[in-house]
Amino acid sequence: MAEATPASPSVLSRAPLVSVKNLVKYFPLRGGILQRTVAEVKAVDDVSFDVHAGEVFGLVGESGCGKTTTGRLLLRLIEPTRGTIEFDGHDLTSMGAGDLKKARSDMQIVFQDPYASLNPRLPIGEIIGEGLANMGVRDRRQREERVAAILDKVGLRRYFINRYPHEFSGGQRQRIGLARALVLQPKFIVADEPVSALDVSIQSQVLNLMADLKDELNLTYLFISHNLSVIEHISDRVGVMYLGKLVEMASTEDIFKSPKHPYTRFLLSAIPKPDPRKHRQRLILTGDVPSPINPPSGCRFHTRCPIAQFPVCSEQDPVFELKADGHWAACHFAERTKELEKESGFVAPAIEAAGGKLKAQGEAEAAAEPAADVLRSQLDEQDKSTRKEPLGGG
Ligand code: SF4
Repeated sequence: MAEATPASPSVLSRAPLVSVKNLVKYFPLRGGILQRTVAEVKAVDDVSFDVHAGEVFGLVGESGCGKTTTGRLLLRLIEPTRGTIEFDGHDLTSMGAGDLKKARSDMQIVFQDPYASLNPRLPIGEIIGEGLANMGVRDRRQREERVAAILDKVGLRRYFINRYPHEFSGGQRQRIGLARALVLQPKFIVADEPVSALDVSIQSQVLNLMADLKDELNLTYLFISHNLSVIEHISDRVGVMYLGKLVEMASTEDIFKSPKHPYTRFLLSAIPKPDPRKHRQRLILTGDVPSPINPPSGCRFHTRCPIAQFPVCSEQDPVFELKADGHWAACHFAERTKELEKESGFVAPAIEAAGGKLKAQGEAEAAAEPAADVLRSQLDEQDKSTRKEPLGGG
């Protein structure tokens, strides 16, 4: 796969397009005859970050860590419990319906599931043009021209305009989803696992298309994914979430070369290597993922963290703070993670076994989980070949 592109200083020196401060979202759980709130799911808990104009900010974490909820909060598709979201200098959280509608034309979302997110009863011309109609473009001809132009941009034929979603493949449907988001000429796109539902061979096409469109249309992305290979390929900076909190944030290069938080180190160690002989040291986490209804005290990761030091980790919530230039982490021992890992024997014993056994294990893992490897090679190939050929298939 191509080397990750670190965020260029020029991108980071620009004013933030999106600025999130102390964002909180608790979902109430109701019970009893009176349906009173009996508990709260702490989906997002005190999250702060900026997304600079022209940047791709990748948000990564396990299922249920709050990354999708964060993306939806940013567009105010759901209301935050607390905190502020500024977009282009305006506070979205205090906006009335009229201003919010105008702001939304600059902020769009691409959903994970291209099958479920398109209305099967409408031709794609109407699906894509719906946003234009809502934003006051009444002239049908004008709408059709803009839809045709955006179909060109996402690599689909203009004559597809009267076809229905079921007539398209998964990759084409995600291109339609992209066209729907882009037709209003937004500045900011929340891409929520945009390639997760696609075949690995198609993922690279859609990813490269998104990267090209970003440059061509001066877009800014919040790119949400659980797949670190995807995040590495497209993101300038990365935020890692665990149980509703950001635990690490840095440039893509720093996250992949010198991760500071034990959870990030675990995620990275789980990426399969294409060559089983070059086995990555695999870190093993123990324990179940705690419930976001009643998260652990102190550091939320302490119940699974192999280098947790007691009682400090179970009693004191680590502050999310700057640990190095542009590198943020929430861990009391961020500067000593490698040393503590060695002391605690964090590395799985099987990895330390020599020779053939190690090779056999690597081969078994590679066979069991080939998707990331295939994606990497696909991305490489796509980088070299044509990216935006109009598609009849795919
Ligand atoms: Fe692990 Fe303690 Fe750091 Fe939390 S604060 S990640 S429990 S070492």
